[in-house]
Amino acid sequence: MNKIAYPAELQNLIGHLKRLPSIGPRTAERIALWLLRSPDSCSADLAQALGAASLGVLLCPSCGFFASRTLGCPLCDDPARDNSALCVIEQATDILPLERSGAFHGRYHALHGRLSPLDNVGPDDLRIPSLLQRLRVGQVREVILATGSDVEGEATAHFLGQTIAQTFPHIALSRLAQGLPAGGGLDSADDLTLFRALSGRRPLGS
Ligand SMILES: [Zn+2]
Repeated sequence: MNKIAYPAELQNLIGHLKRLPSIGPRTAERIALWLLRSPDSCSADLAQALGAASLGVLLCPSCGFFASRTLGCPLCDDPARDNSALCVIEQATDILPLERSGAFHGRYHALHGRLSPLDNVGPDDLRIPSLLQRLRVGQVREVILATGSDVEGEATAHFLGQTIAQTFPHIALSRLAQGLPAGGGLDSADDLTLFRALSGRRPLGS
């Protein structure tokens, strides 16, 4: 007797869902079955939203945040922002909590990672060349190194601080003030803590 299994199309759907972060085999199966039992419009809307997002959203080549292919980058295209201050963060998603704090109105640069020798992440794997290129343009007077307060975040800030100080000695370097949770990323800090950390940022090396 043949072993009974789900139809190939359903197995295929479960297989795709399983590849999503935090989705295990049981959850993938539950979502797939839920979608099948939902009205047709639900699956169609989801498929349409997925297609529109993957076609319409790209990473801004300048700051590394998410930009609309048609409307551009909400940060880089905003003429009201201060071109003289550049805040360097690890991930594009770190920008949102900093924006919510309301303490910073300059430009951003997401590295898309941090130095991590154990994971084989070196300077060449991060958006450091494009950062140096932005500094070369000459408008930036202060760089805030807002990488995390854990060992890798500190090492990344230290490396960037040295690199920038050597090439652009006229640029002031600062680091977020204490108050951030030790070992935590920006996404784990509340708005007030981030506001204080940004407002009280200290020159690097002090
Ligand atoms: Zn941008």
